[in-house]
Amino acid sequence: SLVQEKSVDMTAFNPAMATQKEANISILGELQTAINDEQLLFYYQPKIDLRTGDICSAEALLRWQHPRRGLLTPGSFIARAEQSTLIQTITEFALREAIKQHKVWSMQGVEIPISVNISTRNLLHPQFPQIAMRLLREYKVDGKWIELEVTEGALVVDMEQAIDTLMQLAEANFSISIDDFGTGYSSLQYLHRLPASLIKIDQSFIKRLPHDKGAVYIVDAAVTLAQKMGVKTIAEGVETLEVYDYLRQTDCDMAQGYFISKPIPQDRFSRWFLNQNGTYASLG
Ligand code: C2E
Ligand code: MG
Ligand code: MG
Ligand code: MG
Repeated sequence: SLVQEKSVDMTAFNPAMATQKEANISILGELQTAINDEQLLFYYQPKIDLRTGDICSAEALLRWQHPRRGLLTPGSFIARAEQSTLIQTITEFALREAIKQHKVWSMQGVEIPISVNISTRNLLHPQFPQIAMRLLREYKVDGKWIELEVTEGALVVDMEQAIDTLMQLAEANFSISIDDFGTGYSSLQYLHRLPASLIKIDQSFIKRLPHDKGAVYIVDAAVTLAQKMGVKTIAEGVETLEVYDYLRQTDCDMAQGYFISKPIPQDRFSRWFLNQNGTYASLG
């Protein structure tokens, strides 16, 4: 299965390599078909304002409704797509869907920004800002409604190109978020050069709150650093009331995670939003 193939070590020479290569080719072929046949879709996971309890944004999370394997999460295929040019097609599709979704939800009274995950490879593609700006123009949507989540991988590969791309996107009014913050290699070194407005503190730290002192110190340091830079913070992977309550006592701005909601199928999100908004203000 796709999950088993993930454990093959691609850096070492071993007999599994030939099979791995074939598996890659067939997955990429299937993904191309998936794009053409509209098997790719998005679930949306809300982000909540820790002070007001309001839902303040939603993250688009890619799913693949595979004809035989069922509903697949990105962990089983996105890395393969990122090794090919298919990732450009997928990201353009994700942006288009998010922009269209924003328009539909706005008309239903759900006027929140939508965030889209961007790959390292997109940031290294010189035409990417033009492609993204063209989509905004096509649907007449202001970039402020679309947040782009990037991890620091691209900066390690080619920092100057990646920063240049991010600057152009920020100038087009897109909001930039740093995803999985704390898991990369050189965060502190480049952070002040990025036009980011939000830092997403990685779930690996959030899950260990509030009893693990190490996690407490790291989250505290990230929030303090972000405040000094005038950047907002969000805690990812909030799974329990205990963690949610703890975060409400810190200066962290927002939260996201199963405690608030799992990712919701696109067609159910607006109903969920209109029923749930305000619920979390009274908790804790
Ligand atoms: P991410 O952007 O860091 O997204 C968070 C992941 O954690 C999502 O997994 C989400 O479903 C999951 N999650 C959220 N809250 C909780 C929680 O409380 N507990 C736990 N255990 N997990 C939680 P998902 O949807 O499988 O996505 C995995 C990764 O795939 C994402 O990580 C992102 O890096 C990537 N991805 C998702 N959609 C896209 C896309 O459209 N394009 C690209 N290039 N990458 C995407
Ligand atoms: Mg993300
Ligand atoms: Mg993340
Ligand atoms: Mg991640």
